[in-house]
Order: sequence, then structure tokens, then C-alpha cells
Amino acid sequence: MSRTTSSRPIDIERIFPDLAVHRRSTTRLHPRPGAPEPGDSSVGGPLLWPADEPWPVCSERHRRGYGERTADVRLRRRILAEAWSRVPAPGQRPGPTDEEGDVLRSLKRGRHAPLLGETDPIPLLAVAQLFRRDVPDLGGPADRDLLQILWCPFDAHHGRHEPAVTLLWRRSSEVGDVLAVQPEPEVVGSEGYVPASCTLDPEQVVEHPDIELLPDDLRERIDAWEGDEDDLDEDAVLYRSDLSVAPGWKAGGFASWHGTGRADVLCSCGVRTDLLVTVASGEWDGGNRSWTPLEDRATADARGTNIPTQVTVGRWGSMNVFFCRADPTHPPRLSFQG
Ligand SMILES: [Zn+2]
Ligand SMILES: [Zn+2]
Repeated sequence: MSRTTSSRPIDIERIFPDLAVHRRSTTRLHPRPGAPEPGDSSVGGPLLWPADEPWPVCSERHRRGYGERTADVRLRRRILAEAWSRVPAPGQRPGPTDEEGDVLRSLKRGRHAPLLGETDPIPLLAVAQLFRRDVPDLGGPADRDLLQILWCPFDAHHGRHEPAVTLLWRRSSEVGDVLAVQPEPEVVGSEGYVPASCTLDPEQVVEHPDIELLPDDLRERIDAWEGDEDDLDEDAVLYRSDLSVAPGWKAGGFASWHGTGRADVLCSCGVRTDLLVTVASGEWDGGNRSWTPLEDRATADARGTNIPTQVTVGRWGSMNVFFCRADPTHPPRLSFQG
């Protein structure tokens, strides 16, 4: 199924024609639960990985034996999905049975890999892969048609409270035999770092910059047009939520800076970076419903539909992945927005 973002509730470029020069396209990825193949763009799906190429590992010093079993995370999701999709018999409560409840309570955080030392290499977890043919706004080297994203699922890297993200650019035609069984860490620091398997329905849309990135004069006029935040109706159309940066997983376009305020993101080599991909905890929420694809409107409030990947970054926000303009193989920079 394709996904369609409706045209913006207000054509903001008609009100502020000088905004037009700041427009940019982004590709919304629209991940939805599914069973992608290694040749598909996906989140949480199998990567097109050469059978004879070593799988990347994390050897950075941090605790890696304590957390949740990756298998437990998947089991819990399966039980909950089944339980909540059942129609309860008359007189019965919806949700997990007593028996399922017992299993769910047994899935606990703990020291599940006690033999792992603090620098023992652990396999990274596959997060997503994007083929350029599917994602028109995918940045990076033009002679690589496939981006693969992996991370180490512990909040303890580079002296910061964040996962370690690895980007890999490939020519898909160079991949021969594909690795049949993907390694993954036995334990994850956080359940939200285990992506559920999703296919993608990419869609290109227009964005405008986060309001903080606009020239002062234009920003002030848009601020004045939006009016006082305290006097707004619940369904008021706002530049910040409805007319600038699209929510959800996407490639290219603009980063939102709503959580931290704007920042220049420089590569470790000193060169400026561009937004590559946004990883999002949710595809929509109460504040940005105008972006909910038309095909999802009828079920937008159903349990779990706005969190198809089950990934949680930050407290419940987004993670922007920036890459170096001079050399896309330099390590990416991350920004988390609440
Ligand atoms: Zn790590
Ligand atoms: Zn660089």
C-alpha cells in the first residue's frame, strides 16, 4: 500500500512568499510491520550483507551483559500483539490472559550475559537499509545505491548517553551470496533499540526549515502570524507542527530542533554535516496529526499504529543522523530531540 500525506492545511508559501527559497524535499519512509527481504528497503529487516564479510561489532568500553534479552523483547511484543488483537469472549477482559501475564512478568531486565567483559566485542544490531531507487532524498555518495544503518543498543558511547550508530554505503550489485543468519547481540540496554521488522512505503514531500533556522525577520513574522501560544485552539494550524518538518522516519529534509534549540553539527574533521536520516519514536502524535497519511487516518488511534517500528529514541523523541559533507565515511553525528 502506498502512503499519502495530504497537502498542508495552509499553503504557507502564499502567506510568506519569501519562504519558498527555503523549501526542501524529504522522503518520508512510512515503515509498517511486514516481512521485508534482503533486497528490500526496510527497518528492522534482513540486510543485504555479503556472506563472506565480517559483521560489525562494538568494542567500546561499557557494560553489555546487563539489560533485556533481545529474544525476550521480541517474545513480549508477540504476546502483547496477539493478546490485544483477540476479541475478548463475553465477560472476559481484553488483553493478556493470566497465563500470558505470568510469561510477561518473567521477562525481566537482568545480568543476562554475565560472562561478557566490558570491552568484549558484541555484534551490532541491524536498524535499517535504504536503496537509493526507493528513497529519492537519500544523501551520500552517488555511486553507492544502498545505505545500511546499524547500532550498538546501549546508551553508553563516546562519553554520551547514546547508542553507537554505524553507517555503511554499498553498491548492491557487488553483493554476491547474502548472509543467511544475521548476528545480533544477546542483550540490549534498552528495548526501544530493537526495531520491529517493517517494510517501507517511501513518499516524497516538501518541508520548510525548523523555525529556528529561518532568517530573523521571517521568523518574527511567522511567530506573529501564529499568535500567542496560550490563546490557540487545539486544532490551530501551526508552522512548527504542521507546516515545517514532517514527523516520523525520513531521509533528507530538515532536522527539527524543538527539543534542544538549533545547533551547528560539525563532523569530527571540522566540516559541516547534512541530515541523512531521522529515526523517530512515533510516526505521529496529538500535536502533528495533519501529517498522518490518509490511509492511516481511520486507525490512527488504534493501539500501536503510530509506533510501527517499536523503536524509542531519547525519552520519546527523534534521533537525527548527520553525515559529513566532505567524506560520508566519517562517523555520523547524532542529535536527539525530545
Ligand atoms: Zn557499544
Ligand atoms: Zn568529516
